[in-house]
Amino acid sequence: MALRKIATIGNPILRQPTRVLTKEELLSPKTQSFIDDLVETMLDANGAGIAANQVYEPVRLCALHVKDNPRYPYKPNIPLTILVNPTIELVSSETFLNYEGCLSVPNLRGEVPRSVKIRVKAWDRTGAEVDFETAGLTAGTYQHEVDHLDGKLFVDRVVDTRSLCTWQDFERYRMVEFTERAKALVARFGS
Ligand code: ZN
Repeated sequence: MALRKIATIGNPILRQPTRVLTKEELLSPKTQSFIDDLVETMLDANGAGIAANQVYEPVRLCALHVKDNPRYPYKPNIPLTILVNPTIELVSSETFLNYEGCLSVPNLRGEVPRSVKIRVKAWDRTGAEVDFETAGLTAGTYQHEVDHLDGKLFVDRVVDTRSLCTWQDFERYRMVEFTERAKALVARFGS
């Protein structure tokens, strides 16, 4: 396993939609070893998720994992999840404002409207089909990762640009209020 370099905003790789994987490609030793690298890179950087194109592989695959994350202390845990060729369907038209950050957008956070409830369809790393609904803050994390695979970054979706702030200023001026909203979402949806 090896840590991969993370592309940052401005790099064209982040703007190109990714390529769907065939089952044969997914099960190849090369892709399986890439998935190990992707997970290791995410954990090393304390990311809540990471998409393959963030580490220069333009394929439709991402990883998520939240366990007492120091970058996002209010986020409920998400077990390690690999999504291959994921699609998202919005189950609710209701949105909430998620304060997002990104490993590819260093030291910036901003408020992004996200659907409160979604349905995710994908394969896991063995090629088995997964199909589930998720809601609340966790649904926001999934939407952020699948956006990457479509060549989108969270800054594209920021409606009120006055919400943009550095991580230090988030902690100084926004964290208390957002944590209250985050807690209310977790209380409502359990995630
Ligand atoms: Zn990101």
